[in-house]
Formats: sequence, structure tokens, C-alpha cells
Amino acid sequence: MTRAAYRFREFTIGPHLEPDAEAWTFAMQCTTCCESSEPGPEIQDAQDWAEAHLKANPDHRHYREHVTRPYRAVPGAWQ
Ligand SMILES: [Zn+2]
Repeated sequence: MTRAAYRFREFTIGPHLEPDAEAWTFAMQCTTCCESSEPGPEIQDAQDWAEAHLKANPDHRHYREHVTRPYRAVPGAWQ
């Protein structure tokens, strides 16, 4: 007969803010034509892309910002 014991542990999932976390990335998307900038670590690059896109397409006036940031599960006490 095989017996197994299991223990349960609570985890909390939240933003990963430690130095080894992945970098945040930012991108802007035009909601008129769905074109978007490449995701990158600098928000200014995304905003520059939107300004250039507006200059090239004066009737594309609505944008969506995409921010990606890492999260992680932090273990709590064993149950
Ligand atoms: Zn557009």
C-alpha cells in the first residue's frame, strides 16, 4: 500500500518588485487602425511612437497604452 501526505501552503500573488524581476514594458496602440509600437522599457519611446503616428495619420486620435509588469507568487505559512 502506498501512502502519501500532502501539505498545503497559502500564496499571495503580487507585483514582483525585486531587482531580479523582469523589466516593465510599455507600448502604445492606435485604436483607429490597431497599429502599435514595439514593447520596450522606456515609456517615452511609446509616447514618441504615438506622436509620430498622429503626424502621419492626423485622423488617428485615440490610443491605448499597454503596460506589462511582472508578478510573482510569494509563499506564506504551511497549513
Ligand atoms: Zn492608426
